[in-house]
Amino acid sequence: MLDVRKAAARGAVMGGTLKPLDLERLRPLLAGDEGMITAEMIFSRDEEGRFVIDVVVQADILTTCQRCLEAMPEHLSSESKLAIILTDEEAVSLPKNLDPLLLKDGLFSVWELVEDELMLAMKPFSYHETGTCKRTTMSFFDPLVKEDIAEDKPNPFNVLEQLKPGSKH
Ligand SMILES: [Zn+2]
Repeated sequence: MLDVRKAAARGAVMGGTLKPLDLERLRPLLAGDEGMITAEMIFSRDEEGRFVIDVVVQADILTTCQRCLEAMPEHLSSESKLAIILTDEEAVSLPKNLDPLLLKDGLFSVWELVEDELMLAMKPFSYHETGTCKRTTMSFFDPLVKEDIAEDKPNPFNVLEQLKPGSKH
């Protein structure tokens, strides 16, 4: 755990690399453990005396293509400026370029922060670029075929009608 106030007071710069295996919450969202994450954090105090962290995270990881369900490499990058706040109320008065980071005791885990940033940077759905995907979408939606299927299906409400007690069928 790191004391943000001390780090900010001496203008600390931290950087390092992580593997997907190091990040417990992110790992289940990935299609494999291969990959590399690099992070840099610059601690400082702004003109208002706030403790501020500039966080830059870059990651090359494997996600799942939602079209063909195969693993695909993806590059994530995120850049944020976080201001340390001690109460929820302080978040309201922050300028727009600062994201709040609530720390009751001023201590935080560097890895967890990197993980949070990556979870925010991940897209909800990833797809291979057209041409590299194993599955093409066109063959699924031939409108003529779709209509034929709909007409042949028995209407489930007609069936229910026949099963009603006292119906005159
Ligand atoms: Zn694909």
